[in-house]
Amino acid sequence: MMNKIVFLDRDGVINRYPGDGDYVKSIEEFHLLPGVIESLQRLTQAGCVLFILSNQACVGRGIITQQDLDMIHQHMMNQFDQAGGIVIREAFYATAAPDEGSLYRKPQIGYIQKAFDLLGRSMNEMSDVFFVGDSQKDVVCARNAGCCALTVLSGGFNIDEIQKWSTQPDYIVQDILEATEIILG
Ligand SMILES: [Mg+2]
Repeated sequence: MMNKIVFLDRDGVINRYPGDGDYVKSIEEFHLLPGVIESLQRLTQAGCVLFILSNQACVGRGIITQQDLDMIHQHMMNQFDQAGGIVIREAFYATAAPDEGSLYRKPQIGYIQKAFDLLGRSMNEMSDVFFVGDSQKDVVCARNAGCCALTVLSGGFNIDEIQKWSTQPDYIVQDILEATEIILG
């Protein structure tokens, strides 16, 4: 049996949603959400291959530098390392501004394709691939790639807003912990 693959959005799933139109601009603004460490440990323990897939147009827009983004990433990884038992195969950040037409910026699936290339897997075999996000872009990206889409309520959108989206997720869950239950269930 092949390992399950889990793509995780960052803001609103792993760390606190920074607010509409805002970004995590420093490590002081990066706050892990409750249940994240436990979830990532359980997913890792179960043999899931974990990828983080995050749009960070703040770099392309010149709001923060690539170096700032790298520092925030390192800060996050340090917390995972301190907790132990968490393996992130790769974190992909799409830094292009929305008007640059990047094939890597969600809902485009460039980084999902890249992840599959990395694993030497074909994108035809998608029955055990999950995408946990908080935005409609995440759901559309998951759909575009053929992943099972889970939307958490710990991010930028409440249930009423989500239910109005033209593309609906497979599951709406409270947070990453509940998403983990479904993925491992
Ligand atoms: Mg998000």
